[in-house]
Amino acid sequence: MLTLIQGASLYTPTYQGTKDVLLAGSKVIDIQSNIELETSTSVKKINAREYILAPGFVDSLVHITGGGGEAGFASRTPEMNLTDATLSGITTVIGALGTDSSSRTLSNLIAKAKGLKEQGLNVFCHTGSYHLPAKTLTGSITDDLMYVEEFVGVGEVAISDHRSSQPTVQQLAQLAAEAKVAGMLSGKSGIVSVHVGPQKSHLTLLHEVASNTDIKLCAFYPTHMNRNKALLDAGVKFCNAGGTIDFTASTTQYDLEHGEYSAAQALAYCINQGVSPTQLTISSDGHASLPIFDQQLNLVGLEIGKEDSLHHAFVQAVQQFSVSIEHALMAITNNPAKILGIDKGYIATNCDADLVLLDKKTLIPSYVWSNGILMVEQSTPLVKGMFE
Ligand code: ZN
Repeated sequence: MLTLIQGASLYTPTYQGTKDVLLAGSKVIDIQSNIELETSTSVKKINAREYILAPGFVDSLVHITGGGGEAGFASRTPEMNLTDATLSGITTVIGALGTDSSSRTLSNLIAKAKGLKEQGLNVFCHTGSYHLPAKTLTGSITDDLMYVEEFVGVGEVAISDHRSSQPTVQQLAQLAAEAKVAGMLSGKSGIVSVHVGPQKSHLTLLHEVASNTDIKLCAFYPTHMNRNKALLDAGVKFCNAGGTIDFTASTTQYDLEHGEYSAAQALAYCINQGVSPTQLTISSDGHASLPIFDQQLNLVGLEIGKEDSLHHAFVQAVQQFSVSIEHALMAITNNPAKILGIDKGYIATNCDADLVLLDKKTLIPSYVWSNGILMVEQSTPLVKGMFE
């Protein structure tokens, strides 16, 4: 079965003009200004003149098995469903544990990843969790990365947070070194995803690792960098020294009223500060618990991260903060894919057919393909999870 997407405004994520794009099986097989097919060929044609065609979104941090538990067992958040991702244009997710690596396990994480993959989504994972020494599936980070295909890195390891294991420079350096070598041996990124909390130490530990060892800043991928202005400025400094940073799209009204920048605002801020748009990404932190702590670190509220926040951040960046469509798309497609070392997040001949058609006016995802499977048509899911 062939699918011909006709006359779309193509962003790969850089703008390519108006193009026809031909899909066969799981691949994009042709991109031309005008593709003519023999009339006898069986082909599904989609008139895409009112649409932007973009790579399927790459969400670099999702708690696919649920997260949280900061307010006891009843506060453990539920697992994500397939359509939580696909209805928002997301075709690739990176699953990770978080605060809880006791009742949440890496075997459960990989099982959930495999389940979502069976349903058509692209899923990769991080081994480890907030805490060091890192929990692993096989007994070592090296073996996890080498022998478990879903694992691409480690994390999210927590720093500058009262829920972290208060890691030392030495511990972080050893972790990054092992992940880097494991990445080399397995052909993966071996990136260390870093959960950065609100403490004023910000990214100091990572800078100390880079200045005291031969580990480079780009071995680390700090997230939640839009938590407050001071952390955001630490992020600009981190980028200027060669790093890349991630903003979290899921938020609460409380956090926004207490100094947090929205992911869209943070993206615009950093670009305006002269940071290259290639160094900036946004993730949803979907299905994370979003605990609200007061000044004394008492828990005063608990909400849940949503995958659709990624798309909302993209729209907000373009419509409210004047970020170009290209730069906003890069932050949720090509940039995270490159940092994670996965062959996703772009459109080219012979690439995987992970695609989203966005309405030109509203930017609402209307059609979504994952590996050539039409998951969403006219904003309605065609493929659902087993129990949705
Ligand atoms: Zn986190």
